[in-house]
Amino acid sequence: MLRDEDRIFTNLYGMHERTLAGARKRGHWDGTADIIRKGPDWIIEQVKASGLRGRGGAGFPTGLKWSFMPKESDGRPSYLVINADESEPGTCKDREIMRHDPHTLIEGALLASFAMGAHTAYIYIRGEFIREREILQAAIDEAYDAGLLGRNAAGSGWDFDLYLHHGAGAYICGEETALLESLEGKKGMPRMKPPFPAGAGLYGCPTTVNNVESIAVVPTILRRGADWFAGFGRPNNTGTKLFAISGHVNTPCVVEESMSISFEELIEKHAGGIRGGWDNLKAVIPGGSSVPVLPAAIAREAIMDYDWLRDQRSGLGTAAVIVMDQSVDIVKAIWRLSVFYKHESCGQCTPCREGTGWMMRMMDRLVRGEAEIEEIDMLLDVSKQVEGHTICALGDAAAWPIQGLIRHFRDEIEDRIRARQKGRVSAVAAE
Ligand code: SF4
Repeated sequence: MLRDEDRIFTNLYGMHERTLAGARKRGHWDGTADIIRKGPDWIIEQVKASGLRGRGGAGFPTGLKWSFMPKESDGRPSYLVINADESEPGTCKDREIMRHDPHTLIEGALLASFAMGAHTAYIYIRGEFIREREILQAAIDEAYDAGLLGRNAAGSGWDFDLYLHHGAGAYICGEETALLESLEGKKGMPRMKPPFPAGAGLYGCPTTVNNVESIAVVPTILRRGADWFAGFGRPNNTGTKLFAISGHVNTPCVVEESMSISFEELIEKHAGGIRGGWDNLKAVIPGGSSVPVLPAAIAREAIMDYDWLRDQRSGLGTAAVIVMDQSVDIVKAIWRLSVFYKHESCGQCTPCREGTGWMMRMMDRLVRGEAEIEEIDMLLDVSKQVEGHTICALGDAAAWPIQGLIRHFRDEIEDRIRARQKGRVSAVAAE
């Protein structure tokens, strides 16, 4: 279990002051100018050496992403954009950072922006996060008043402005290019890539988009050293990580733990065990709603990191661990996600716009058992036609939960169809 002295987010539960004074007491904003004086290359090298991978779901190496930004400006400014649009069902970790430990994020924004030659950064916060926006804005104002932002930020010689932008509550704006469109005042629709944001992002300028947690851990990594961070977890899966545990556990929580912790330890130590005991576990979605569900037998063996879960054809995603016990109608649970993705599709590409609707309607019938057995493969086929054939990853996100369901719970779907055909079931109607 992660020791308390190794925690980056020491006010995750809001037990202490979230103010600048409180943050300083906990070691934040300590020697920020000295870190900046070591130069951008040093910072990027440290972040690379720490092994930090993007905490927003994709797991792309953060230092490498930063190194794609131009070293010399061609006249255009560079921007850092922080994705605080946390909207993936089950995911509620960045919210805790913003409302209880906002200065970790603000200091991280300064250091990351300096490393990438950006004098300006934007935080794009989810529309529903009203209180979080207020708290974050108060913290930004406090940092300006203390000279930590603005001209000669923190006495470093680097001028830096940080703006907080409030979204309007669309899930798709968490996709990085849709977020940029929205930030520019347009409809939040994903852009075709290339060009990638590092070449032409916000206002056509070099831009890096990073998740809140990815940025908020940077100051501590730079203070304590890349080796310290890299000492947690398995190779290629390093660091500490916020896990958001919800569903049928005894004490749902958000907790910072070492990467590569086992699923059983995570649940036992922090979530009070499975409701009704381990034999009552049915399935786990280990990384937010878009990653494929795992059945209990695999979940109990799980090592909670990018590589292990990918090898099981699932993913760590945002580390939002959704636990389901035997009381769950798993077909209906996945149907509910299909409804969500259909609703959130921006509609600009056909496989996603039409495919999410098809999948939702087929799932609707599977929930009630009103289908033929062959339709299960037809649904799988539709999901494959959506996956990988769309502008952004929402198409994949809609397809994967269904693929996971069919891979691991096909029997349950078939049983329901057969029972319905024999008139033996009053299957749960999708509502
Ligand atoms: Fe829009 Fe879906 Fe296409 Fe993404 S995949 S751009 S959400 S229609």
